[in-house]
Amino acid sequence: MSFIHCPYCQSANIKQTESGHPHEQYFEQLRHFISPAQMALFGIKIAKKTGAPPLAGAVVGVVIAGVLVMVSQYCFERHYGNAMNFICQDCQQHFAWAKPN
Ligand SMILES: [Zn+2]
Repeated sequence: MSFIHCPYCQSANIKQTESGHPHEQYFEQLRHFISPAQMALFGIKIAKKTGAPPLAGAVVGVVIAGVLVMVSQYCFERHYGNAMNFICQDCQQHFAWAKPN
């Protein structure tokens, strides 16, 4: 793995760390921010402003939340699914490195 360098200080003195946990944390955070309940409330607010039925707004909000989660999950898997996590032993920065497919 000598071809991998720290993106912060360019050091090759790096160590692989356990992967998987940042991945899960990312989705927990994502689901927290884009929860269907929150998006439904958001949709109801928008519906009230535009004069549309609140129920329609809620449904639209939930649908948008689902699409956003699916799209971001797809993009995340695509870009970071093969990523390995490293820590730089010179500057102590954590960084991810995607494996070539
Ligand atoms: Zn470094």
